[in-house]
Order: sequence, then C-alpha cells, then structure tokens
Amino acid sequence: MLSGPSGVGKSTVVAHMRKEHPEVWLSVSATTRKPRPGERHGVQYFFVSDDEMDKLIANGELLEWAEFAGNRYGTPRNAVLEHLEAGVPVLLEIDLQGARLVRESMPDGQLVFLAPPSWEELVRRLTGRGTEPPEVIERRLEAARVELAAEAEFDTTLVNTSVEDVARELLALMKVV
Ligand code: 5GP
Repeated sequence: MLSGPSGVGKSTVVAHMRKEHPEVWLSVSATTRKPRPGERHGVQYFFVSDDEMDKLIANGELLEWAEFAGNRYGTPRNAVLEHLEAGVPVLLEIDLQGARLVRESMPDGQLVFLAPPSWEELVRRLTGRGTEPPEVIERRLEAARVELAAEAEFDTTLVNTSVEDVARELLALMKVV
C-alpha cells in the first residue's frame, strides 16, 4: 500500500512504475470527488454519486473506505482479492485512514509512506498543480499535517526526491525487480 500526503507525487510515481512494469496491478478506487481535467471513469477512479457510494458501503463491496478532504474514497474488495489470489503484484494508493484499515484486515501487506523532500516543497507542488481551489488546498494541507505526523506507523518511508528512484525502490519492495 502506498500512502502519503496529497500532492506528494504518488500517482506520478505509480504511473512511472507501471510504464516499465505493466504487470503491477493498481486498484482503481471509487470516489465521490468530481473528475479533474483529463481523468476518466474507470481509469483513475470510478466516479460515483453519494447514493452509489452509500450502496457500495452498505453492500460490503469495499475493502476499506475513508472520507478525505470532503469526499469519500473506497477500494473495491473483489478486484483486489482476485488479483491477490492470481499472484499478481497488487498496489493500493490510499490515504492514512485507509492504510490503517487495510493493515487490520491484511496484516501481511506492506505499508509504504511517500514523503515530500520538505513541507515547503509539498505546498509548492499542491498549489502549483492548479487543479483545486484555495479552500480545497487548505483542507488537503491540513490532512497532510496529520499524515506526516503518522509516518512512523509505516513499514518503509521513501522520500520523493526523484520519481525514477522511488519507482525503482517500490518495485524492489514489491519484489517485481
Ligand atoms: P485525490 O483526490 O488527490 O485523487 O486523492 C485524495 C487522497 O485519497 C489521496 O491521499 C489518495 O491516496 C486517497 N485515496 C484514493 N483512493 C483511495 C481509496 O480507495 N481509499 C482511501 N482510503 N484513500 C484513497
């Protein structure tokens, strides 16, 4: 499981990893967040309504779910279990609350924390992305403070100074290379 504050570069690292190693399977989460420009249903996320999310939760279809900065996000259970059973390397990109929940249900899973080189750099990346209004950035920075304080709960911390290096280290941790 890969976690770390919003804006730290998790998606960029994962995209880099999967370009070289498409055999790594990344779980596609369901979210009530609206798509950012360029995001497509079923690729980055399954974009669902509040009602649909309520149903997924009530029907036990999510391995875990959490509320993050005003939206709900959850990991579809069956797809993860099917890939694990097939022996495929499985990657979950989830927030701290989700990582804690999965740790309880899947104690063998590895928790990797992706940290920014500095707080200033995280603020710069999150602000510079230009995809969120100031109040959303503020909520995400608040969440980032909490997530950074929980780093010690993770099995491994990788600092995102170089996308290539972090991708290589993640692949090694997953025993893909
Ligand atoms: P974003 O809106 O920037 O795509 O994601 C916000 C946060 O939600 C990120 O920390 C991301 O890792 C996390 N996230 C994405 N999918 C899931 C999920 O299925 N469960 C949980 N708990 N967090 C998720």
